[in-house]
Amino acid sequence: MIDLRSDTLTIPSVEMMQFAFRATVGDAGRTNDFGRSCDPSVNQLEDTACELTGKEAAAYMPSGTMGNHVALLTHCKPGETVLLDPLQHNYRIEKVAYDSKFGQLRPTFYKLESNGLPNIESISLMLKKEKPRLLCIENTHNGAGGTVLPAECLKEIRALAEEYCVPIHMDGARIFNASVASGVPVNKICSHVDSVMFCVSKGLGAPMGSLLCGSKEFVERALETRKLLGGNLRQAGYMAAAAEFALRNNLSQLAEDHRRARRLYSLLKSIPVLDLPVEPQTNIIIINVAKTGLSAEEFVNELKMCGVWMSTSGDYVRALLYRGISDTAVEETFNVVSKFIQKRIK
Ligand SMILES: *Cc1c(COP(=O)(O)O)cnc(C)c1O
Repeated sequence: MIDLRSDTLTIPSVEMMQFAFRATVGDAGRTNDFGRSCDPSVNQLEDTACELTGKEAAAYMPSGTMGNHVALLTHCKPGETVLLDPLQHNYRIEKVAYDSKFGQLRPTFYKLESNGLPNIESISLMLKKEKPRLLCIENTHNGAGGTVLPAECLKEIRALAEEYCVPIHMDGARIFNASVASGVPVNKICSHVDSVMFCVSKGLGAPMGSLLCGSKEFVERALETRKLLGGNLRQAGYMAAAAEFALRNNLSQLAEDHRRARRLYSLLKSIPVLDLPVEPQTNIIIINVAKTGLSAEEFVNELKMCGVWMSTSGDYVRALLYRGISDTAVEETFNVVSKFIQKRIK
């Protein structure tokens, strides 16, 4: 089976786990005399995250979802308004912050352009009208097809946020993909936002976790929120060490993933009945299968029986490239899909 459902399917390498096995660990849920965790490997990872993002402080989180939840619930109080776009993971998939029984935040939306970039006038209008407590952006934008927010766009959003004194949280689950694709260092991208969450468990290939980074004062409060949500892990250093290994060794993998995504895109684009609306900038391909007469779900289920497993994202079919998918697998995917189309679609 060629499994293209997600880059979370990355399996840690033997070298990574050997590095992790040797980690010095402690109780990461407790604080030492210096206000840091009692797990040196977690502290090391958090320091690395600060260096990479240029932020003062960082907190290791069990998942990206929790990283975003903690960010929202630290920036905002119940009843306050969050401005984001409706395709963001942090709204589409993560509902707890907005649930009336839980976070009780009020989502309000700005428009996305058809190219997946935020509509700046819409952000400006909504900042004025809704007076949100927090503005959220996603980079790369998963639902829009892994699109990268250009520096110019980030600058414009920053200027607006400052005009209205609203902090920005960036869901940077794939911020390293954005950096590799654009050639802009991660700290430069993050300089436009107040807090950022990034995942180590996706293309970077670590088994679990994400980092929430921001000012010292913000991260101190975020650690309180993390504890309340049950996110204090104990000997987390084993996993943090694997993440440290990923950040040191696996960044170059992302460029390979992007190259393979472009290759798969150009192969699939040659199939007339498939509509690929966005040329991939990173590792995500989205496919509109409407012209095949199948729904996205039917397409995925039937293709799976032929040996290629994709996922759905709204009305689209989605394929992700990651270190488990080789050049050969890319060519094979194309062969399977074209045979499937010939057989199934008359
Ligand atoms: C995967 C993802 C998350 C959540 O990360 P998990 O570790 O799966 O909880 C958040 N935002 C975006 C954009 C993602 O792609």
